[in-house]
Amino acid sequence: MLKRQKSFENEMPTCYIVATPIGNLEEMTPRAIDILKNVDVIACEDTRHTQKLLKHFNIENKVISHHDHNERESAKGILMLLMQGNNVALVSDAGYPLISDPGYLLVESITAHGFNVVPISGSSALLAGLVASGLITQPFLFQGFLPTNDKEARGVLTRIRHYEATIVLYEAPHRIEKTLKMCLEVMGDRKATLARELTKKHEEFLRGTLFELVEEAKDLKGEMVLIIEGSKAEKEPDISMMDIRTHIEELIQSGLSAKDAIKQIAKMTGMSKNEIYTMYHNENNVNH
Ligand code: SAM
Repeated sequence: MLKRQKSFENEMPTCYIVATPIGNLEEMTPRAIDILKNVDVIACEDTRHTQKLLKHFNIENKVISHHDHNERESAKGILMLLMQGNNVALVSDAGYPLISDPGYLLVESITAHGFNVVPISGSSALLAGLVASGLITQPFLFQGFLPTNDKEARGVLTRIRHYEATIVLYEAPHRIEKTLKMCLEVMGDRKATLARELTKKHEEFLRGTLFELVEEAKDLKGEMVLIIEGSKAEKEPDISMMDIRTHIEELIQSGLSAKDAIKQIAKMTGMSKNEIYTMYHNENNVNH
């Protein structure tokens, strides 16, 4: 059933999803400070880390932990707090909660129970990296961290290598060289930007190609976002012969001539009209 939330026009308790700085503390917004001061409780990944942030901004409030290892249990606890009429803020160690950070289970459960979920915008490593990358920004695919298992990581890259969208990955410094090599191997050389230590004193952008980045990656330290150009290759036909025949027949049934149906399928798949014509008629001869 459709649920409609008018964020500031109802009396339901609210869970605020509060973005915090990814480095430069000046990116903390007055709105975020105000919310963190005024909610009944703040749920965070690492209480010690968040206490430092709160101290810096003179925020005194109750803090509870909500991290990867207790996510399901703690989501239930936070739901109870809302049921008792409390307003809650969720923060992660940096940037947006839920973006390669815990929070999804919580938001899913809170929205299912009809409580408000309100985003408080702020810094985001993915958007900061993307907009300064020099690569086309739309469409983009945020993949986040690749799986740590090599085979699974390769599987993900193989699946997305044909996408035309710019790809945004998060990576840890000790894995970046390996990841770049794998990207180069699976996707071929293409433009890529490595955005390092965003908003911090040693912020750096390495804009080049995957091959060039592999050569530089060995000694790179700090937090990093890898932005990779989307596929430039001709669209590969990804529909089977079976699909093509069914599709042509559906189009003919919907009133198109066989010639126009073949023309449309050629446009969709990037194959030539002749190729499809031959395939369609051969297939029909075999089958009928
Ligand atoms: N929730 C965060 C966000 O909204 O960006 C991401 C958290 S994720 C656990 C941490 C990863 O985000 C890092 O390993 C790095 O890939 C990226 N990241 C966070 N801060 C960054 C920064 N200042 N510069 C570059 N990348 C950063």
